[in-house]
Amino acid sequence: MTTSRPRTVLLVTPGVADSDALQRDLADDPDQAYSVVLLERVDQALQQYLDLRPDCVIISDALRDTDCVALVDAFQSVMPSAPAVVLLVDQEHSPLICEALQRGVYDYILRSSSPRRVWWTVRKAIEAADLRASLAQQRQTLEESVVHQPRLVAEREELARKEGETRRLMNEALALLDTLIDSAPIGLAFADCDRRFVRVNRALTIMNGRPVEEHLGRRPAEVFGDFGAEWERWWQKVLATGEPIVNLEVSVLLFGRRQYALVSYYPVRDVDGNLLGVGSVVTDISQRKRSEIGQRVLAAAGSMLAASPDTSALGDVVRTLFPDLADYGMVHLQDEREPLLLVAAAHRDQELEAQLATWFDAERLSVSGDVHPIARVVAEGRTLRDAPLFPAIDEEMVPAQLRPATCVIAPLIAHGRCPGALTVVSVEAGRQYTDEESAVIEELARRCAMLVAAARSYEEVRQARATAEAAVEQRDRFISTAAHELKTPLAVLLGNAQLLLRRAEQDYALDAINRRNLRIILAQAQRLNRLIATLLDVSRLESGRMVSARLPVDLCRVAGQLAEELTPTLIRHVISLDLPDEPVLVAGDELRLEQVVQNLLHNAVKYSPRGGEIRVTVQRSEHEALLSVSDQGIGIPEAELPRLFQRYFRASNAEARQIRGMGFGLFIVREIVESHGGTVEVQSVEGSGSTFTVRLPLWTPGASPVPPPDSAWKNRYT
Ligand code: ADP
Repeated sequence: MTTSRPRTVLLVTPGVADSDALQRDLADDPDQAYSVVLLERVDQALQQYLDLRPDCVIISDALRDTDCVALVDAFQSVMPSAPAVVLLVDQEHSPLICEALQRGVYDYILRSSSPRRVWWTVRKAIEAADLRASLAQQRQTLEESVVHQPRLVAEREELARKEGETRRLMNEALALLDTLIDSAPIGLAFADCDRRFVRVNRALTIMNGRPVEEHLGRRPAEVFGDFGAEWERWWQKVLATGEPIVNLEVSVLLFGRRQYALVSYYPVRDVDGNLLGVGSVVTDISQRKRSEIGQRVLAAAGSMLAASPDTSALGDVVRTLFPDLADYGMVHLQDEREPLLLVAAAHRDQELEAQLATWFDAERLSVSGDVHPIARVVAEGRTLRDAPLFPAIDEEMVPAQLRPATCVIAPLIAHGRCPGALTVVSVEAGRQYTDEESAVIEELARRCAMLVAAARSYEEVRQARATAEAAVEQRDRFISTAAHELKTPLAVLLGNAQLLLRRAEQDYALDAINRRNLRIILAQAQRLNRLIATLLDVSRLESGRMVSARLPVDLCRVAGQLAEELTPTLIRHVISLDLPDEPVLVAGDELRLEQVVQNLLHNAVKYSPRGGEIRVTVQRSEHEALLSVSDQGIGIPEAELPRLFQRYFRASNAEARQIRGMGFGLFIVREIVESHGGTVEVQSVEGSGSTFTVRLPLWTPGASPVPPPDSAWKNRYT
C-alpha cells in the first residue's frame, strides 16, 4: 500500500554506516518517503520512541544481543500502539533473529539486502503495525461501546421517543392545518414557482366548481381558460417581485352567474427565505356585492323617480342597471284604449338604442305569432325569466348586442293594476340572472309602476282641476253677467219705489197698509241691490280689478259716521265708540274702507240676535292704525276660525240658527284690507261674542298716491 504521508523510521545502531546505507536505500523508494532518525544510545531508545512515535523501529544487531532483546521487549510493551520492529542483521542464520521473531519483531533485513527488499520489509512492517494499531483501536472502541451500550441504548430510546413525540405533534399540527385549510370559509390555494397548483381547499373548489384533482399539478389557465390566465399573470408578478398583492377585487362569470371576489396573492418562502411558490386567499363577496349593486340601482332609480313628475325619467331609470345588471332594458306601457307602447328604451351602446324602438314597437310585438312574452307579462302580471324576446325570428337576423343571454320581464304593478312591463336584458354569453338580481329588477319595476300610476293620477287630477276651474270661471262669469244685468232694472225699480213712497208720504195717496207694503218693497229692493253689489265685488276681486287709490283717509271719521248712520236702525243693540281725538290717517280708498267697517258692523249686529253692546275702537300705534269691532253675539266655533275668511264659508252655528248670508262679506273684508297692505284677524268664543281687528299702515305724507279706483266701482254707491 502506498501512502503519501512521509514515514518516520527510528534506527537504533551504534554504527553510522548502517544509518547511511539505510537512508540511501529508503530514499530510493519511489512510492514512499521516509525520514530516518538515528539513535545510538540504547537507554534513550524508548523515550525517543515515545516522543517521536516513529512508524518503524529498526534495531541493529551491532548492538549487544541482550540490548537487542531488551529493546524489542520494551517496544512491544507500548501496546496497543507498538511500532513495527525490524531487525538489521549481517547473517541470515543469526540466533538473534529467532529470538527476536519470537518476541514480536516483524521481520529482519540483511545489511546486504537489496534496496527493494529493504523497502518491501519496512513497508510491510509499517502496514502490519498500522493494521495492528487499527485493530487495537477497533477493539478498544468495541470494548468502550460494550461498556457504554446501556447508556447508548437508553439515549437512543429517548431519542426515538422524542422523535416519535415530535412526529406525533407534527402530524397533529398538520392535521389541524389540514382541517383549518379545508374548513376555512375562504378559498385558499398554493402553487409552486412553476405556477402549478399544489394545494387547494374545499371552499375554493366550491367557489370555482372544479374538484381538487382538476387543480393539482396544473396551471390556472389550463383549468379556467381566460380568467385562469389572468390569475396566472398575478402569480407571475408576485413571483417576479416577491411582493404580495392584497385585496384585489375581481369579477368573473361562473356557472352563468356573475361572481365577485376579493383576492390576495402572497409569496411563500421557506425558513431560509427561499421562494417556494405563491399562496392565494380568495373571499367570495358575491352576495354582498350583488346586494350593494341592487341597493345602488334602487337608490339611484328612486331619486330619479321621486324627482320626475311624469314617465320621462324611465329611460334614465333603466340606465341605472348598467353595467352590472344589464346591457339594455325597456319599459312598455299599455293604456285601456291603446296597444302596448314602448315608452322608454336604453342600451349601453347608444347606437343600438335607436334600434330597440324598431325591434320592440307595438307592431313588432303584435305580429310575432303567439302572444309576445312582454304582452303576456302585462296581461298576467307575472314575471317571466329568460323568455324568448325574438320569437318567430331567425336569431341570426338580430344584432349580436341585442341577442339575450338572459332576461327578466317584470310586470309594472301598482294599486292592483298592471299597466306595463320592464324588460331587462344581459347579452353576456353564458350569463343567467340570479334570483337576487331578478328580485332587484322586479322591485325596480314596482317603483316604475308607482311612478306611472302617480303620473297618470296626476294627469287625472290636473284634468279634473282644469274642468273644475273652467266650471267655476263659467259660474263667476254668469254671476257677474247676471249681477250686471240685474243692476239696471233694479236701479229703475229702486228709484221708482223711492219716488212712489215719497209721493205717498207727501200726499197720503195710499193708506197706511199700502205705504207699509211700499216700504217693504223698497227695503227688499235695497237688500237685493246690496247683494248684487256684493256679487259684483267678488267678481271684481277675482278678475283682479280691485285696485285701490292711496289717499289719506281718517279711520275715526269713517267709523264714527257709519256707526251714526246705523244707530237709528237698531233696537236691541247699542253702539259704543272709543275713538281718539286726533284723526287716524291711513293711505287708502275711502269707499272700500267704509265697506270694510260696514261689513264688520253689519255682521256684529246680525250675529248678536239677542242684541247687546257693539264696541267700535280706533287706535294708532307708531306705524299702524288699528280698528276693532266687538260684539256679544253667538261667537264662532274655535275649529272653524281658520276658514272664516274663505269665500262661501259660513260657520255652523250661523247656519244652525238660520241667520241668512252668502259667506262673501269677510272674504271681501280680507281682500280689501290686504290690498291696503294690512291684516285682519278674529278672536271669538262661541256663545260669548267676537272681536274683529283690522290693522292698516298709517298714511305717510309725501307718499305718491295710487290712481283712484275705476268709476264702475265708485258708482256702486251712487
Ligand atoms: P255672511 O255673513 O254673508 O254669511 P260673512 O263672510 O260676512 O258672510 O261671514 C262669514 C261667516 O262668519 C258668517 O256666516 C258667520 O258664520 C261668521 N261670522 C261673521 N261675523 C260674525 C260675528 N260677528 N259673530 C259670529 N259669527 C260671525
